[in-house]
Amino acid sequence: MKRIGVLTSGGDAPGMNAAIRAVVRKAIFHGVEVYGIEHGYQGLIEGSIKKMELGSVGDIIQRGGTMLYSARCEEFKTEEGQEKGIQQLKKHGIEGLIVIGGDGSFRGAKKLTEKGYPCIGVPGTIDNDIPGTDFTIGFDTALNTVIDAIDKIRDTATSHERTYVIEVMGRDAGDLALWAGLADGAESIIIPEMEDEFDEVIERLKRGHERGKKHSIIIVAEGVTSGVDFSKRVEKATDLETRVTVLGHTQRGGSPSGRDRVLASRLGAYAVDLLMKGKAGCMVGIENNELVDHDILEVLNREHSIDIDMYRLSKELSI
Ligand code: ADP
Repeated sequence: MKRIGVLTSGGDAPGMNAAIRAVVRKAIFHGVEVYGIEHGYQGLIEGSIKKMELGSVGDIIQRGGTMLYSARCEEFKTEEGQEKGIQQLKKHGIEGLIVIGGDGSFRGAKKLTEKGYPCIGVPGTIDNDIPGTDFTIGFDTALNTVIDAIDKIRDTATSHERTYVIEVMGRDAGDLALWAGLADGAESIIIPEMEDEFDEVIERLKRGHERGKKHSIIIVAEGVTSGVDFSKRVEKATDLETRVTVLGHTQRGGSPSGRDRVLASRLGAYAVDLLMKGKAGCMVGIENNELVDHDILEVLNREHSIDIDMYRLSKELSI
């Protein structure tokens, strides 16, 4: 392989830049040329493709977002769109592609592989919702952003003796809510992987109030319901004054944490190694701190799961 491409697709995540940097530098280290494809699959179809040099990825390791931009592209889900992408890859002499993104982006990568273009997926999403890796790039940074926000909310919650409902991202996964809840000592954590435990939440709130607790923090994952709706239910079931904070896109931004930079560097470089070895249609990941790779389809057919022990612990510690 003499020339490869790299793109970022789907929701952006802090650390994507560090992954791009690792891909470019590792490929050049191997004597392979790298082309950056801007705006994900949309840019691939449109031919928004440029050669990357060592200097192209200088001074980006500490930056959030993605220097290659990201996009969602409905057209790429069609055979026609994929054909257009392949024409562009052929035109630029690109022999293999590294796709940094989430599960949707991986499905696109698998389609290209099936059509004869070897692709490797690098998991980049704050949701941590991809099976086959303990952590995705961006999760740790987003977690720290959420913790920082909840710490601040806790100050005002204490001053005003209120119940706070905080809605966090994660799409259909509860990892961000669970980790942030445990890290912040939240009274209740509402995540899509567990049954509706509304009665238990109310019971815990009342119990806390009776023993003089001045405030409560409830974390709701966006995959369950909106924070606004949940707080209305709480107010209806109790006499407690409730406030809602939707953390929203602040969770997707910011300088990547040390952990995310290291993870992105390792996974990006490993993806290049695999492509050089002739592997295709797989995603890279980290399990028990070891670099691993799995077939994309096999991984995407698996159900995402959360750490049940962690969930139980969060309950035990917030009695
Ligand atoms: P993420 O990668 O973060 O999960 P999306 O699910 O929005 O984000 O997917 C990103 C892009 O990947 C989509 O806009 C589309 O271009 C491409 N994609 C998603 N699913 C498929 C599919 N089944 N086949 C081909 N391309 C897909």
